[in-house]
This record gives sequence, structure tokens and C-alpha cells, in this order.
Amino acid sequence: MRLNFSRRWIVACAAISILAMAGCGRKSSEVDDAALRAADGDSANWITYGRTYSEQRFSPLKQIDEQSVGKLGLLWSYDLGTLRGVEATPLVKDGVLYTTSAWSIVYAFDAKSGKLLWSYDPMVPKDHAKYVCCDVVNRGVALYKGRVYVATLDGRLVALDAKTGAPIWDVQTTPKDSSYAITAAPRIAKGRVLIGNAGAEYPVRGYVSAYDAESGNLAWRTYTVPGDPGKPFESEALKRAAATWSGEWWKAGGGGTAWESMVYDPELDLVMFGTGNASPWYDVLRGKGDSLYAASIVALHADTGEQAWYYQTSPGDNWDYDATQPLMLATLSIDGAQRRVVMQANKNGFFYVIDRENGKFISARPFAPVNWATGIDPNGRPIENPAARQLKDAALVKPSAEGAHNWNPISYNPMTGLVYLAVLEDTSLHAIIPHWKINLHDQTTGSDRAYRGPARDAYLKMKSSGRLLAWDPVAQKEAWHVDLPDPKSGGTLATAGNLVFQGRADGKLSAYRATDGKLLWDFDAGVGIAAPPMTFSVDGTQYIAVESGWGGPQVLSNRPPGKGHVGPAKLLVFALGGTATLPPYQHVDRPVPMPTFKLAASKAEIEEGRKLFANTCARCHGGEAVSGGSVPDLRYVSTPTHEMFEEIVLGGARREFGMPSFTGDITPPQVRLIHAYILDRARESAQADAKKK
Ligand code: CA
Repeated sequence: MRLNFSRRWIVACAAISILAMAGCGRKSSEVDDAALRAADGDSANWITYGRTYSEQRFSPLKQIDEQSVGKLGLLWSYDLGTLRGVEATPLVKDGVLYTTSAWSIVYAFDAKSGKLLWSYDPMVPKDHAKYVCCDVVNRGVALYKGRVYVATLDGRLVALDAKTGAPIWDVQTTPKDSSYAITAAPRIAKGRVLIGNAGAEYPVRGYVSAYDAESGNLAWRTYTVPGDPGKPFESEALKRAAATWSGEWWKAGGGGTAWESMVYDPELDLVMFGTGNASPWYDVLRGKGDSLYAASIVALHADTGEQAWYYQTSPGDNWDYDATQPLMLATLSIDGAQRRVVMQANKNGFFYVIDRENGKFISARPFAPVNWATGIDPNGRPIENPAARQLKDAALVKPSAEGAHNWNPISYNPMTGLVYLAVLEDTSLHAIIPHWKINLHDQTTGSDRAYRGPARDAYLKMKSSGRLLAWDPVAQKEAWHVDLPDPKSGGTLATAGNLVFQGRADGKLSAYRATDGKLLWDFDAGVGIAAPPMTFSVDGTQYIAVESGWGGPQVLSNRPPGKGHVGPAKLLVFALGGTATLPPYQHVDRPVPMPTFKLAASKAEIEEGRKLFANTCARCHGGEAVSGGSVPDLRYVSTPTHEMFEEIVLGGARREFGMPSFTGDITPPQVRLIHAYILDRARESAQADAKKK
């Protein structure tokens, strides 16, 4: 009897472990290569940035579906303690949720209760904020064999113990204290951690690195653009690329940074990523030519980092059309054949379907208004509109430099065959800084934010708009869209519950029916949502998690703020029947006080100050000195702050709050002109606000 009993027990255990291997009730197993390859079947967990290697962000979970979603409610929230942008995708493994916040800070929570298990602050020097175009954001971590990997704003890659958050190794992946930055989540392929970098708006040269996950040793590094042709090229691919550049491009670095998307394709053993703009933005400044491999989708052999193929989306890019938007792998039936494709909704307004075996162009159609090109020819080359490149005075170009789509994750539901994405319809005013020369300390785009002229008058009359779009990638056409109240919105999540989740600038997190876009549920987070929602389950309960917090280029832009709600960033976790609430958060518009600080300046000096402010300060403190809200609005500063203005701007007195020193960029007399302009703007605004009373 005893023997029989124990035999039965052994059989039951074996059955359980078979289930566990199949991904049902997987408990405390490791995130290893097999788990990453099988991530799609492991519905409870979300173990890599885009959920699976294909990065489709489709979850098979369906406890929350079109019938039950009305009962979805907040279960818990956590205040991330920042007003800066948050853009991370949380990862979940066996009931533990790992995420990041601004300044590359990592958090681990008990996913059910919201209890903080640990946090890790990599102590990023705050004045590194100078070297990011688009806020001090971070998009999340990678998990592998009991470790959590985070890349930091100042260019480090750090391995942490997943149980305690204790650092195991910490390597600098970019030249220390340089104008590179990292905001992307690392990816894992075959025991290596893959990471790119950001900074194509600065004088840098882009590259992708693979580090051994165990030791932190560099396995390979592949540059995206050619360096100084006076020195040996690192590869034949870069030698070929050099023929597509002219002038002395290497002096401004070349750009082409792989700052966001990266996917590993285990079927083809390829690593694919998108590259940013060539540097500077305009070909009259950097030299004519296609500028390979900037603004391209590039595939490398995973073992060696050698190039397998490339496809350039914007040859000779002249409009900041980075090709760094999410890459998504799928197998689609196209003209009767099963094609292994990589898809991208590019900043340049075209939705691309590319054969990922060889990089061959399959199709591309505009998903937003485009005026820089009239289409893509059968060879995959854009048919350009010459007026958009000429920039004689200034050009109004669609889509804007922010992109018809940007970094925000997109999702694909294989049941509907549709891709869900945020679309921004906007225009950029491209003008070149007169007498531009490279500044090795700061941004080097060549774009003149101080431009005044007839094109600007037209620009200011233009409206922007935004929508959630469901796109059929096979037919290359819209299935449905939902117009949104604010042009800007966030990443998407698709689920087997026939749902699409998306957050947006006004703070709403919404669920739509995947088949037709009908709004089924929403929740008011009070502050804008740019980050993508994700889903997971623990002990049979399905949860939805998203970070709320509005920052990024939407806030740090040179246009006055829209309706995007800046406020305390939070991690929000929802489940059916959740009844938690958020503390009320009020957006208060305070009138600008009349400054009492005196600084004598002529009209001409104030105008000089305006130009300097536009090209040095506006990218964080806002166009016309109206801040988006997460960085101080300088019209409101107090007299003691005015008194130490130069100490702050040149001396770095507010370094620890993220205000860098601009020594080497501007001189003390120029600081005085900027100061005079800010005071003038404060007086103007204070007078206007007083009249409103
Ligand atoms: Ca760029």
C-alpha cells in the first residue's frame, strides 16, 4: 500500500513538472534561453520588453475581456516620486514585477500586493540631463538567470541580483562623461545582453554592444556609421557605408544611434535594430549622400555582430526621421506566400513590411499625412518631394521631427491581424542655424529653434492631432481609428480578450474592442500616460499594469504645452473588482508674478537673448520660455534665484537637480542676454495674467 501511494505521488509530481515545462503554473523557474523562446506560451509572465522575442505585445490572457472589462478597477498604486517622464514596460516573473522610473531607478514589487521588495538607484549624475533630447526616461529592464539588467542614462549597463537588487557588475558602455545616453531596455540573446545608445542630436557615433550576461565582458561591438576614413574601417560594411557620406561627417560623430528598438530573431539568429538620424540633421551641413546606416533597420548575426542586411527607411535623412521605432516580427501571408517579416511604423509616416530573412522591401504605405515623399518605389526607395529637402528659408515638413509614430510600443493581435499604434499628425518647421558650426559640448542638430519668418507664421496656424490606429499590415491600410482629444498618446497592449489598451496625455487609460475600436472602459489617472500597459497573471488572476507620468519630448518641447497632464508619476496595477483610488491631484495654473529683480537691457539685447534661449535652453525649459511643467518654468523663479543666475547657468549650482553647467557653450555676456529675455517674458506674462483677473 505504502509503495503504491508513493508511486502515485511520484506520478502526480511528474505530471505537474510536465505541466510546468509546458508553461502552465511555471513556478520559480529561471528566465533562460528556453524560457525566452517559449515566452508566448507562458501567459502568466511577461519576461522580456515586448513580451516575446517577436515583440508583438499580445497576451493570450483573457480573464479580462470585452464582457468583463467594465469591472476592471485599480488594485494598487505606487508613487514613483518624480515629475519627469516614465516610459517603462514592467516585466513580471513568478509574481514579482520589475520596472524602472526616471533617472534609471529600478524597482521590484510583489505584483499582487504592491509591496516594494527592493529598489536600486544607479546614482546617475543629474547634470547628464544635458545629453538627452527627450527627458531622463528609462524604458525598462531585462531578466536573465536570476538577474535584472538595467542600462543607465549615463551609459552604464548594470547587472542586479533579482532577489535583492544588489549590483553584481556595472560596466560603462559609452565613453564616460560623454554626450551619449541610454534610455532603452536591454534585450537578451544567447547569454548576452544587447544594448545600444542614444545621442544622435549630439556629436556621437552610434553602436550596438553585446555583453556576456554572466561576467559583463564585452563580446562584440558594431558601429552603425563609418568613422574617420583616415583610420582603418572596422568592417567591410562600414567601408561600403563611407562611400555614401561626403564632407567631414565624422567630426560631428555621424549619429545613427540605436536608441530604442532591438529584437532578437531566434529562427534566423539575427539581432535587428533601428538607427537614429545622421548627425547633424541637415545634409547641407553634414554632406550629401544616403549616410548609411543612419535612419535604417539593420540586422546583425547574433554571435559575431557582423552585418547580415540593412534597409534604409530615410536615405540622406534631412528631417530627424530616426528608424528607431518598435520593430515587430511576424509571419504574414502575403500574395499567397508565408513571409517572415519585420514591421515598423516609422517616424517618417510610412508603415514598413520588410522580409527579415534578407532585408528585402515588401511594402510601405503612409499611415499619417506625409509631404516629404509621395510614396515608396517598388525597390523600397522613397520618391522624395524636393521642396522638403531644400530648406532655402525654412520648410514645413510632415510628419514632424517627433514622428508620425515614435518610441511608444505597438502591438499586434494575430486573431484580428491588426497592428495597434499611436499616431501623431504634426508638422515641423525646419530651418538651419545661420553660420552653424559643430559644438562638441552640446546638441549639434543644426536646427534653428530661434527662426522667425513667414514659414513660422504659417506653422503657428497649423493644428496637430492624434489617434489610436488599427492597421492591417498585409493590406497596408487602416481598419479603424479613434480620434483622441490630445495629439499625443501612449503605447498599446493587445490581448486575447479582444481588447486593446492604451493610455494618453489627458491621463485616461482606455480599453477598446480590438475588432472595431469601440471604447469599453477607461480610468482617469489624473496625469498623462505615455508608457505602454502590460498584463500578467498570478494565482489565476489577470492584472494590467502601466506607469502614469507625462514627460519626454511632449513636455520638453519648443511648443507651449498642450493638454498633457504633468504630475507625480505612478505605477498603477488593475484587476477585475479592484476598488483602490488615487489621491486627488489638482492641476493649478498659477498667475506669473511680476519679477522684482532688475536687469537693464535694450530691446535688441532681449532679442539676442531670445535667440540664445531658443537654441540653448528651450529644449527643456520650453519654447518662448513657457515650460511644459516637469522642468522649472523660468518666468516664475524667485529673486534669490535671479540673483544667482550666472552661478546656476555657468557655475552648475543646481547640478544635483538636473541643471547642467553651460560653461563652454555660452559666455557670461550671453548668459546676461538670456536672463534679460527671461525677465522680459516674465513681465509680459505677469501683465497678461493680471489682465485676466
Ligand atoms: Ca533623432
